[in-house]
Amino acid sequence: MALRLFNTMSSRIEDFHSLRDRDVRMYACGPTVYDYGHIGNFRTFVAVDLLRRFLRQSGYHVRHVMNITDVDDKIIRNAARDGVTVQQYTAKYEQAFLEDAAMIGIEQPTLVRATEHIPAMAAFVTKLVEKGFAYRTDDGSYYFRIAKFPAYGKLSKKDFSGMQDGARVDVDEYDKDSARDFALWKAPKPGEASWDTPIGPGRPGWHLECSVMSMQELGESFDLHAGGEDLIFPHHENEIAQSESMTGKTFANFWFHARFLLVEGEKMSKSLGNFFTLRDLVLKGHKPSSIRYLLTSVPYRNQLNFTFDGLKQAAVSVERLRNFRSRISAGNFPDGASPEMQSLAAQTVERMTSALDDDLNTAQAQAAIFEMVRQANAAADAGAIRKDDVPPLLAALTRFDEIFAVLDDDDAPKMKRVFEWALTEGRDQDVSPELREAVQSGQHSDADIEKKIAEMKAARAARDFKTSDAIRAELADLGVLVEITKDGIRWRRK
Ligand code: AMP
Ligand code: ZN
Repeated sequence: MALRLFNTMSSRIEDFHSLRDRDVRMYACGPTVYDYGHIGNFRTFVAVDLLRRFLRQSGYHVRHVMNITDVDDKIIRNAARDGVTVQQYTAKYEQAFLEDAAMIGIEQPTLVRATEHIPAMAAFVTKLVEKGFAYRTDDGSYYFRIAKFPAYGKLSKKDFSGMQDGARVDVDEYDKDSARDFALWKAPKPGEASWDTPIGPGRPGWHLECSVMSMQELGESFDLHAGGEDLIFPHHENEIAQSESMTGKTFANFWFHARFLLVEGEKMSKSLGNFFTLRDLVLKGHKPSSIRYLLTSVPYRNQLNFTFDGLKQAAVSVERLRNFRSRISAGNFPDGASPEMQSLAAQTVERMTSALDDDLNTAQAQAAIFEMVRQANAAADAGAIRKDDVPPLLAALTRFDEIFAVLDDDDAPKMKRVFEWALTEGRDQDVSPELREAVQSGQHSDADIEKKIAEMKAARAARDFKTSDAIRAELADLGVLVEITKDGIRWRRK
């Protein structure tokens, strides 16, 4: 079976085909950098990252472009409030976003910034005017005339047949049920940041940014366009209207939307006190790997209810996978191969692949790897694992981790960076005792610990149990638990 994906345009799960051989050109709407990213944002970005990784594992070459919206209504308002330029205001949050994305294992897409493509956006508006799809208003703004684009509504399946020609809206996000001519280009209001261009001073509308930059980077028609479900209307509908009226061609072949995340069963909102940035969670002492794991544990089209219990569970799951990997890597197994383990590893790879082929069923892929871990642990307990079983079992784990990216124990240095950031921001009081402890126990790298374990093994081989015990105690002080089993020495951080 090959990849099947839900396409919001057809409202069906379809076979995924790329337009050009094994190349996939995909565009994801990125963050508006006016604040720190919250876990809802990262739910969507992680879903897109997972898609990208799985396409690659399926043999595609992926070109993944993402915009950074570095000018919009909120940014202009906040920059003015703080008395800084738009660029000064956004630089900090763009940097924070990139750090956060890397912290939860998101591979960096090719980034495009709205403010670096202003001339191309103004030129796009000029062409839309020439083609009769756009018009200028008295204040110097430009609007898209949706009555000229009869297919308007085809993505969101909204029926706008009774709409009023020429009714306008100048904000980027608006009422979900009304169709209005939307702003392509906004003339500056007094005191607002603006750019001088051949169509006059102003700034691009949010929708225009994505049309211009995606087609510039990926061509007039490309494979897939992604974002959270809130972007279906008006944002993506408007992108389609602008792009397809410009080119007369299909803009994106597949439309991929991640379902909104809830927190403890409710829509996340500052007023409900259930609004969390990624950094808030790390400040509470949660590991980036647990957060990533939790965000991937529910398939992207299902509602993910983020809970702190779920986050603890996710930490346990990651730990179990990591422990299993160290157990079989470090184990001293007898020569030979066992047919059961060989077929278990092969079947696991097959089950994971077919789960992900099925519209990225991440929950089933995770279930497959856990079933393997359960059976292989039982086999190890029973002395039924052989030396030649180790590579295929490890290969199945690696294949899993190429997508889920949680096996490497790099949480401690990442948490330390958040800890240091909190201190520089004067947020010491937000640092939980759990984070402090994690930072302290993480002062020692895996390599340092492995070195100690090797010394411990050498001491035991020489029957020098006193030294071995001393090293074990030293490691315990560093928050490292050492377990001596019949198939080797295992360790993990507390
Ligand atoms: P923004 O920075 O608001 O433009 O959002 C960046 C991305 O996060 C978009 O793709 C949104 O659709 C997505 N997003 C925002 N809130 C949530 C949420 N609660 N759950 C899932 N995705 C979200
Ligand atoms: Zn967009």
